[in-house]
Amino acid sequence: MANSVLTAPATASAPANPYITAQRQFDQAAAILELDPGLRAVLREVRREFTVNFPVRMDDGTIRVFTGYRVQHNLTRGPAKGGIRYHPQVSLDEVKALSMWMTWKCALTNLPFGGAKGGVICDPTRMSQKELENMTRRFASEISLLIGPESDIPAPDVNTNPQTMAWIMDTISMEKGYSVPAVVTGKPLSIGGSEGRPAATGRGVTVVTLEACARMGWNPSECSVAIQGFGNVGSVSAELLAEQGFKVVAVSDVFGGIYNSEGLDVPALLEHHRRTGRVGGFAGSRQEISNSALLELPVTILIPAALENQFSIDNAARVQAKLIVEAANGPTTPEADDIFHQRGVTVIPDILANAGGVTVSYFEWVQDLQSYFWEETEINSRLTKIMQRTYQQMDDLAREHRTTLRMGAYCLAVKRVADATAVRGIYP
Ligand code: NAD
Repeated sequence: MANSVLTAPATASAPANPYITAQRQFDQAAAILELDPGLRAVLREVRREFTVNFPVRMDDGTIRVFTGYRVQHNLTRGPAKGGIRYHPQVSLDEVKALSMWMTWKCALTNLPFGGAKGGVICDPTRMSQKELENMTRRFASEISLLIGPESDIPAPDVNTNPQTMAWIMDTISMEKGYSVPAVVTGKPLSIGGSEGRPAATGRGVTVVTLEACARMGWNPSECSVAIQGFGNVGSVSAELLAEQGFKVVAVSDVFGGIYNSEGLDVPALLEHHRRTGRVGGFAGSRQEISNSALLELPVTILIPAALENQFSIDNAARVQAKLIVEAANGPTTPEADDIFHQRGVTVIPDILANAGGVTVSYFEWVQDLQSYFWEETEINSRLTKIMQRTYQQMDDLAREHRTTLRMGAYCLAVKRVADATAVRGIYP
């Protein structure tokens, strides 16, 4: 199992490679589970990685070539599932890591899916709607070799949204000659989307935060919360946590953050964000702060809801929160994880904390396949039940193995995929 990349953990000067982080997390769980070496070798690599370079006509008439990826880590338990990200820093290793995390997330929540992820290297903030549509449609066409309701089902991620999913669904449907709503989830309601999907990830974050607080004996009204990232996941988390009585004191986006130790008026902040497109300049803020300062505020609960590698060997010792809820994927490097463990900081791992999105995506896929749609109350109650049950199972395994919640979650997830792989056997 020797792999030289594993000997290169993150240092103060080099940001962690997310794929190495994902493999190190898997190796740790495989060691606890005493997993068969053959199974380890299979599960620590992605199954398929697909790179496409494709032309897009821009508004000024020029042609630009974009690079995109679709990676499938595992398909043993069902079709691959995972979002599509648009960002200048998208890389093949980032997409590989995200696809592996999707496999564990789906197995952890016991959804009948494998893991995948996609991404396009681009800066959507500098592109028009028409350019984004052209890029999305051509990318969808390029990856149509892989995606489909039975094989691989994309969803929104950073800088993609229900409109992006509608363009993908329409492109695939035009190529087939009939509507294929189940090819993507996170679609608008009018074309087979699900009630509750836009808020699902933030709702899941809220459910697991409440579960953690109940176990710690904390009252939400006594807990201050800082949230990094105010997109789909961060803003809904802020809204629902405030509704539950938590005091949201700081939030941020790519431009920077705001802080008021007395608490922010979240409904007014959401309105300000809708109007201006950023959290900065909000009248209820007492102080503008940087994204890195937000992570070190004296708060009870910290919720990273932006990108990977936010907690590293550089800042983990300065984090003052007692509970970290990983709404983002991969925000904590293994070195930071060790520091948090030593310092008694509880971390609810990404593969559970943000699993609400894929759970309701599963409900959406089921509804599309049956052409029978459920009410939002039913969706929210099923989601809550799955998140609460999985939290308990993770907690039980963490206690049994005397390890972190992350490793408790990994043990449950990796064992499910390993068992499925073993019983299916090796083809041919
Ligand atoms: P989004 O594009 O809706 O929002 C991202 C937010 O992060 C924005 O507020 C943006 O301004 C901010 N941001 C971007 N770069 C930043 C930086 N360098 N520093 C600070 N803030 C920055 O994306 P999202 O869908 O909310 O996803 C956020 C995270 O949640 C990602 O890690 C994603 O993989 C994860 N996630 C999303 C879903 C989902 O359903 N959308 C599901 C599971 C996990």
